[in-house]
Amino acid sequence: MSPKVFSGFVIILIIVGGFIWSRDNKPAAQSVAADSIDIHTDNTPHVGIQIGHLDAANAPEELKNIRYDFGAQVGSVTELAIATDIGNKTAAILKSKGVKVDVLPATIPIGYKADAFVSIHADGNDFSYVSGYKVSGSSFDQTDNSDQLATSINENYKKITGMGENLTVTDDMFEYYAFNYLKFQHAVSSTTPSAIVETGYITNPANRSFLLNHPNTAAEGIAEGIIAFLNSSR
Ligand SMILES: [Zn+2]
Repeated sequence: MSPKVFSGFVIILIIVGGFIWSRDNKPAAQSVAADSIDIHTDNTPHVGIQIGHLDAANAPEELKNIRYDFGAQVGSVTELAIATDIGNKTAAILKSKGVKVDVLPATIPIGYKADAFVSIHADGNDFSYVSGYKVSGSSFDQTDNSDQLATSINENYKKITGMGENLTVTDDMFEYYAFNYLKFQHAVSSTTPSAIVETGYITNPANRSFLLNHPNTAAEGIAEGIIAFLNSSR
């Protein structure tokens, strides 16, 4: 190949390469735009409330690790019963304020999409003196929306329940399986702001008594936090 023919060949390669590059990059930009539009096509806010551990025994193969995780228990008091009660009450408060709510079990729909997803649990510990609530946003969220949702629930739960905060948030929380859309199909979509709430320790006498006797106050704390988040993100 002469130097002249070779340089002509290189120029053609650059032109063809540039064309392929621009063609491959256009569809990606379009699908991102379409994705962010279809969340807000409906003006009614839409929230998913997950009852922690509900129906875990029937989790699909990809979530087989949760099949035997029935949650904390002390005497006849179970985390599942408390999460069910507070979750249903949270959903009722949200519905009364015009929010569309899905109450979800441990296995959520594939690629679940909503304006907010909140998982409700209660904690247990070998030491009865350990107490307090915890809230964490998803660490898989590429935006700061999940942290904003978590902060809003945290502030409202603290203010409305008067319960102290437990600061030992673990990776079980911020890497919660239902947030992990990179690993599981039965997880939230990458654009769904997500948080998990540990409403208090059922192994702590004061927390347990509060959760059993004032579930509506706990639900109000969570619901007000979600509503404040929805209002700020609109
Ligand atoms: Zn739990």
